[in-house]
Amino acid sequence: MTRCRLCGSAALESVVDLGATPPCESFLAADELDRPEPTYPLHLRVCTDCWLAQIPPLITPEETFTQYAYFSSYSTSWVEHARTFVDDSVRRLGLGADSFVVEVASNDGYLLKHVVERGIRCLGVEPSVNVGAAAREAGVPTLTAFLGPESGAAVRAEHGPADLVVANNVYAHIPDVVGFTRGLRALVADDGWVSVEVQHLLTLIEQNQYDTIYHEHFQYYTVAAAIRALASGGLALVDVELLPTHGGSIRLWARPAEAAGGPPTARVADVLDREKAAGLQELSGYTRFSDRVAKVRRDLLGFLVTAAERGETVVGYGAPGKGNTLLNHCGIRPDLLPYTVDRNPYKHGRFTPGTRVPVLPPERIAADRPDYVLVLPWNLRAELVEQLSYVHEWGGRLVFPIPELSIVEVKR
Ligand SMILES: [Zn+2]
Repeated sequence: MTRCRLCGSAALESVVDLGATPPCESFLAADELDRPEPTYPLHLRVCTDCWLAQIPPLITPEETFTQYAYFSSYSTSWVEHARTFVDDSVRRLGLGADSFVVEVASNDGYLLKHVVERGIRCLGVEPSVNVGAAAREAGVPTLTAFLGPESGAAVRAEHGPADLVVANNVYAHIPDVVGFTRGLRALVADDGWVSVEVQHLLTLIEQNQYDTIYHEHFQYYTVAAAIRALASGGLALVDVELLPTHGGSIRLWARPAEAAGGPPTARVADVLDREKAAGLQELSGYTRFSDRVAKVRRDLLGFLVTAAERGETVVGYGAPGKGNTLLNHCGIRPDLLPYTVDRNPYKHGRFTPGTRVPVLPPERIAADRPDYVLVLPWNLRAELVEQLSYVHEWGGRLVFPIPELSIVEVKR
């Protein structure tokens, strides 16, 4: 990688190097275990001209999304988050029977189904064939496509301009930031709104969330970098909300530059101030991160090795993509973690990429009564402490690796 994909600068500096790992959603079937498994370097760098943090786009979205294993509807709190977002947007923008909503990367329709329920016309644009099919079966109109300037213009020509374009949890996943942003501009009405939710680099760094760095996340945004990214497609940031999702996300409210009018809200200025105070407009704010990542690895490995030597059992909960960054970076294989479990039946009987830890149904935990359950989707901590409260019945404990290793007594 020699050039920043947003501004073209050659001033890219190392933030953290996580070694070479397979794509984090490439779970292996049993008959794939004896085949070679491609790995790619996972090295985060930051552009010191526009401050977009980025990894080289070594795997294409086409490779990632052909048969994507992530179905949003399997997460209870995620579906609830989507419902609240739709309620708030309808109120905020005054959407009604004449409105048109487009969601880009609409997954299995987990969000647009709430729009359909309100009788508002909508369309999902989803690149993954299998999850798009699930959305159509659930009654959510869905086009199988990647968003770019051409596909955006084609949707506008066929369906008309959108009053609201939603792009949640996709802005990190597209290597062509500029083309994607132009696609958003093509979809949205000249007086419409674009709402983009993406992980916030400020919390990623402050909370040691390095496992959310993976091949499918090509770039990592501060609000300062997001303003530049949106502008590359003719969109202007108007407002920002800080959200707890994914351990800390930003919801960007943008409009076509000519419709924005005036400077952004005070909330935007506040977040920009916080980012600056955290040192994210100078290189030192980024380079300190790599020492803290090394400590997360030492602490987790120390815990697992000690448990193994004491004859205590540790199993995993969850098989999220981020778990695979963690397992691969730490070198955790079935000798330290004999299996993990997940609610998504697509993953049952498969193995984590690289580390080859079996993924089993959640019922297995109650059957085996392990001493510790290592929770990989730490971003769902509140939900999972509740869901896994049954672990207390045999005196088991939950372990969270991030932001720092913590062992939680489950409340009776
Ligand atoms: Zn740049």
